Amino acid sequence: MKHIYPDFVKIVSRTEKEQMLHQKSRVIWFTGLSGSGKTTLATALERDLFNKGYLSQILDGDNIRTGINNNLGFSNEDRVENIRRIAEISKLLVNSGVICICAFVSPTEETRKIVRDIVGPEDFLEIFVSTPIEVCESRDVKGLYRKARAGVIKDFTGIGSPFEIPQHSILSIDTSDISVEECLKILLNRLFPEISIQKNTTE
Ligand code: ADP
Repeated sequence: MKHIYPDFVKIVSRTEKEQMLHQKSRVIWFTGLSGSGKTTLATALERDLFNKGYLSQILDGDNIRTGINNNLGFSNEDRVENIRRIAEISKLLVNSGVICICAFVSPTEETRKIVRDIVGPEDFLEIFVSTPIEVCESRDVKGLYRKARAGVIKDFTGIGSPFEIPQHSILSIDTSDISVEECLKILLNRLFPEISIQKNTTE
């Protein structure tokens, strides 16, 4: 029963897709408090990578909670399901050769471990945006800290519930005193060896 299917029926492998795109696909996962700078850095990174010819896709609360996960709330069970689906989508993107840039608070080691386990540790690049809470709160980009302090939002990360310092991040960036452009340079410096296909071909 050998050769039932002709060669052209074989699925196109991830490696072939990565070679077509001239990149190595990875999940770049920004974790940190609300207002720490995750979305800003994810967006700046995507734009810069795009300008340099790399294909990536951002996943964040805006496109996930309003779309595929719009049936989920904030119970413990729903939070786990939310993160599980995000991880599975990330994995699909990575398997299609695309660099997946995720920006989620993901406050606990358990949450981040769920993603790492699904994606696979070798493809999971965790970046801790370590901006202190005082700075995040003074920014209060979405007015959420004010609501949390007023008791309108219960269990807000950093106020009503803890943020656990990541133990497995490949990089920490505190955005308090440095510009987005400087942050971007630091990010690219760390990430290029991971996503650049030249790394393997010159080895
Ligand atoms: P998060 O996605 O973590 O909730 P945002 O990116 O939405 O955070 O908000 C971060 C805020 O901090 C934005 O208003 C951004 O302009 C500001 N900011 C100032 N400096 C920086 C920096 N170096 N990196 C990222 N954000 C910065």
